[in-house]
Amino acid sequence: MEELELYVHIPFCIKKCDYCDFLSFSANAKTQKEYVDALIRELLYYASRLKDRKIVSIFIGGGTPSWLDYNLLVSIVDVIKGNFCVAEDAEVTLEANPGTVVKPAMESYKKAGINRLSIGLQSTSDKELKLLGRVHTFEQFLKIYDMARECGFDNINIDLISGLPYQKIEDFMKSLNDVIRLKPEHVSVYSLIIEEGTPFYDKFKCDDDKQHAGMRTEALPNEDEVYAMCKMTQETLKKAGYLQYETSNFAKKGLECKHNIGYWQRKDYLGVGLGAASLIDNVRYSNKRDIYDYIKATQKLDLYNNIHETVQTLSKQDQMEEFMFLGLRMNNGVARDDFEKNFNIPIEGVYKLTLDKLKREGLLEQNQGRIFLTDKGADLANYCMSLFLLD
Ligand code: SF4
Repeated sequence: MEELELYVHIPFCIKKCDYCDFLSFSANAKTQKEYVDALIRELLYYASRLKDRKIVSIFIGGGTPSWLDYNLLVSIVDVIKGNFCVAEDAEVTLEANPGTVVKPAMESYKKAGINRLSIGLQSTSDKELKLLGRVHTFEQFLKIYDMARECGFDNINIDLISGLPYQKIEDFMKSLNDVIRLKPEHVSVYSLIIEEGTPFYDKFKCDDDKQHAGMRTEALPNEDEVYAMCKMTQETLKKAGYLQYETSNFAKKGLECKHNIGYWQRKDYLGVGLGAASLIDNVRYSNKRDIYDYIKATQKLDLYNNIHETVQTLSKQDQMEEFMFLGLRMNNGVARDDFEKNFNIPIEGVYKLTLDKLKREGLLEQNQGRIFLTDKGADLANYCMSLFLLD
């Protein structure tokens, strides 16, 4: 059976964080219930059409899925397990935020078959959490983390953000070391991006421009400090026994996130819910982004699928570019055999000049049938990726 990954989007959050541009917002219990009903209609629609696919990973993300009434959340998992062919060893991840989970909820998640938690912490400093507009403290994070362990979760990711406004290198290192002491199986560290349309954009746009121009700014760490945080993250996590397997992701051996690796390997995935994206047989779909349009569309799904906002059939060229961009984000890069299997042509047949150039510049290496960026190449990833564009 052909494999498929499943992503389920829950767009609700208690309150919007000041840096966030994800598709998420607050909503009352009635809207949440109507949304889950719509989500279930969409799931059932696909379950009957994708009977020949085996679900190898499920990721329930958001938003803050753990803010949803846990009975509703469990009903979503039950519908998936009852109607799709789900692999016995499927990785089932739930994104959870501190301050949103009570013990009976945590127990129900475990019982329902959720076997991996991804907890949004971002910083262990309450001052930084407040600045980010997060609704929780570090103390509340520790409560949810301990609760998860007590309930038997043995695969937990913790998210951190580096390069926060007014953050010194030692502030970030304190957060990182606090997290390492907790011994999670997986750590994700993202650099802050000032996104348009967020309160952070209004506050820090000028500083952001200065930072990118290599200048000193009042509020944001300069480029050298951001780079130093990135390098220290890699060294510190390596020393603590974590393998870096992608730009922002570190895991104990064998506990890499299978779902995300699937994205980077261009495995097919079905995204269900508001604004969710799918890639099936090299067609990329993305769902409607307005919640009322989405709910309405799911009521007519049996007649024809009008739930998508965009549909894009990827050309061979698009597929090859994506294969390289996504694959080279991973530390072990891409397999030459996979390229040939996917495109019926050896990788040199398409990218010989690029591969030779990057090798000459010390930015790329080949070993045991794999092609990957060197440390220097990873530092210059944007430049390297630009050379894989085929126009
Ligand atoms: S909790 Fe996450 S998804 Fe929700 S607003 Fe904050 S950053 Fe965005």
